[in-house]
Amino acid sequence: MDHILIAGAGPVGMVAASCLADAGVRVTILEQSPDLPDDLRASTFHPPTLDMLERFGVVPAMIEQGLVCRQWQVRDRARGVIATYDLGVLRDDTNHPYRLQCEQWRLTRMLRDRLATNPDVTFCYGATVAGVTQDGDGVDVALEDGEVVRGAWLIGADGARSAVRKALGVAFEGMTIPEVFLTLSTSFRFEQAIPDLANIAYISDPDEWFVLLRTAGLWRLLLPTQPSETEEGMLRAQRIEERMQGVLPTGVPYDVRHRTAYRVHERVAEKYVVGRVMLAGDAAHVNNPLGGMGMNGGVHDAFNLAAKLIEVLRGADAALLGRYERQRRKVAVEVVQQQALRNRANMNNRDPVKREAAFAEMRATVSNPRKHREFLLRGSLIQSLRDLENVA
Ligand SMILES: Cc1cc2nc3c(=O)[nH]c(=O)nc-3n(C[C@H](O)[C@H](O)[C@H](O)COP(=O)(O)OP(=O)(O)OC[C@H]3O[C@@H](n4cnc5c(N)ncnc54)[C@H](O)[C@@H]3O)c2cc1C
Repeated sequence: MDHILIAGAGPVGMVAASCLADAGVRVTILEQSPDLPDDLRASTFHPPTLDMLERFGVVPAMIEQGLVCRQWQVRDRARGVIATYDLGVLRDDTNHPYRLQCEQWRLTRMLRDRLATNPDVTFCYGATVAGVTQDGDGVDVALEDGEVVRGAWLIGADGARSAVRKALGVAFEGMTIPEVFLTLSTSFRFEQAIPDLANIAYISDPDEWFVLLRTAGLWRLLLPTQPSETEEGMLRAQRIEERMQGVLPTGVPYDVRHRTAYRVHERVAEKYVVGRVMLAGDAAHVNNPLGGMGMNGGVHDAFNLAAKLIEVLRGADAALLGRYERQRRKVAVEVVQQQALRNRANMNNRDPVKREAAFAEMRATVSNPRKHREFLLRGSLIQSLRDLENVA
């Protein structure tokens, strides 16, 4: 069967590789880093993503290494809990009625281990894609070191700065959010300091909002920064300590384990499919991390694309790949971008009247079982997957 190239061994590239390899397809993964990246990035897996990953047999280990979070909260910094959402209401909609907090690098490593003995799968590290050309039979990928690798099809899963997307000349329209996001992790036990704190909490405040996410062993914090702050300045130990004391004053220095400054864009690629090259994940769409939809949406792309590509390799018309673009681009534009923008607008809301109205709506949602379920079906991306069936 045809040989498939995948640029990028992030969660999206690794999921696509796993689907293809399980179908007996020969796959080569081109990854620029010397090993799988293990930096601090997404850590929220939504219910349908876990349902999809079940087929690889990795979910029990992810649960063992992660933290099952059935509930998440919106809190007002001064008044405490505003609304507690309970994913248990989705028990008839998913095998996993919870969010799993588990760092994305754990998944990529598990998938690599699973593929390690598959003779059809080749990992090339230190392989930076620099150019792409294609003809009627295949794709030539030029690496930075001058080597050219040829395959029948190429999946560009090489992240937000995708060299594949740039080589195709595909526009990446949208905007850059003015504030940089700071992602920190600490061993401090927020659950002991704030007794009614859920493991996932969005803390609203007219002056400075933040998000607290618990993972196995650490708490992660997501904080916006002032557009005027430099990345170097915001990452300085003294400034980080100030921010931590601003979140919860303890008078004792925090044990900060990771710190990352993260510039956020809201963009969707104009096209996902160009001839024999397909874009997926961050290479195709990026959004702010509120709601944890970037990686989840990307993994959903990978499953959708791989299933269609396997059909094409087995003889289906290549036009089927156009449906991948129509389905998944629609989700990126109409669901993920819109939801992420709404989440950011809610967190940035400073107007006291509008804040109270938003809080009242949240309380009304969680106290009405039908609304509560519908809200969580949308927020966990289950609804977007169901709606795909209506996209021709
Ligand atoms: C610093 C940071 C923090 C984040 N935090 C959050 C968060 O808290 N919550 C959230 O929901 N999302 C977060 N995200 C976004 C989330 O990590 C992405 O949505 C997710 O990683 C997308 O997966 P992907 O596989 O498409 O891309 P990536 O995970 O970016 O993987 C792309 C892979 O391609 C490789 N690559 C890149 N260029 C090339 C090239 N030219 N040739 C070969 N290989 C290449 C990279 O090394 C990488 O391994 C964060 C992103 C960043 C950058």
